[in-house]
Amino acid sequence: MSTLAFTNCKVLKDGRLNYGLGVTVKNGLIDDISSEGELRTDDDVDVYDLGGQMLLPGFIDTQVNGGGGVLFNDSANVSGIRRIAEAHRQFGTAGFLPTLISDELDVVEQAMRAVDDAIEEGVPGVLGVHIEGPFLNPERRGVHDSRKLKRLTADTVNTLLPIRSGKTVLTIAPEAVDAGTIRELSKKGFIVCAGHSNASYAQTAAALKQGLSGFTHLFNAMSQLGVREPGVVGAALDDPGSWCGVIADGHHVNPVSLRIAYRCKGPDKLMLVSDAMPPVGSVLKQFRLLDSVVDVADGVCRDQNGTLAGTALDMIAAVRNFMKFTGIDLPLAVKMASTNPAAFLGLGNRTGAIEIGKRADLVVADDDLQVSMTWIAGALEYETSE
Ligand SMILES: [Zn+2]
Repeated sequence: MSTLAFTNCKVLKDGRLNYGLGVTVKNGLIDDISSEGELRTDDDVDVYDLGGQMLLPGFIDTQVNGGGGVLFNDSANVSGIRRIAEAHRQFGTAGFLPTLISDELDVVEQAMRAVDDAIEEGVPGVLGVHIEGPFLNPERRGVHDSRKLKRLTADTVNTLLPIRSGKTVLTIAPEAVDAGTIRELSKKGFIVCAGHSNASYAQTAAALKQGLSGFTHLFNAMSQLGVREPGVVGAALDDPGSWCGVIADGHHVNPVSLRIAYRCKGPDKLMLVSDAMPPVGSVLKQFRLLDSVVDVADGVCRDQNGTLAGTALDMIAAVRNFMKFTGIDLPLAVKMASTNPAAFLGLGNRTGAIEIGKRADLVVADDDLQVSMTWIAGALEYETSE
């Protein structure tokens, strides 16, 4: 693999945009970050003059149900995953977890095998899988099919294993699993999150003690912060160590709630997620979600009962929205889209920031936050045609 150099750009490094720096990439890794005059740009280096644009760490989306017209539940195979990856790449997503919503256990197994196959075949950007359900609380099911939901029994725990080649996030409702299950799953290597849950504060706090890592789409489909019962939301906001995914589309969560979450969790523990559905990167106006029909209007996905059914959100839009909603600056918003999810997945030493030795997962964007290139492991995987 040849050496690359990015010049004439603003490099997001150490929490700020740096003018006058350039970056070289060798063998898929960031090799050097120096002032442009000191950068190697001899004949065997491919030089990319970025025309003053920003060079950002590639986004990592831990909740992607679909994209490019494809729903992962319906296309739990390598070509489906490839299609979803391509759709999101145009919005700066350099790493993601295909996310399966509640389905039969044989579909769950098939989805996990498909993600292993995709990683082994080298589909760019696949970091693992997110299994969201079916061990959820029917009272907080959202658009998940109530017929698919079940308790997680000890027998099933014994047969469940994380995937071989990447990370496995499992979203459960703490009250839908037996005592000790979360500890058991964490020991096996699952990253366990709470979601679609009506748990009390005490149940959630007990789950955190057992090794619960985080919360799936904080605020949505969970017990809310009440006056005498803090619920899942209260437990999440109160706990300094856990991670919270948030959907910053302006429809799922009121911007005020996002600002409060940011104040409680700080800049290190919130992650922007898309919770994206098939319309992202496609022109779909309607799609099937298992047995229901979902309409897409004004960037919002709703089933025929009017329930929000995932999003038409992409990661660069989530960054733009979060900045607008909370007033935080670009380096912090980007950190929530790249560095924080990398750390949540235990990949913080490999990706999620522009640092020497990290994988060259990079996004090039202009000052209006329009993505023009997405690089994954030093390979140009998306370039705008304009
Ligand atoms: Zn959900």
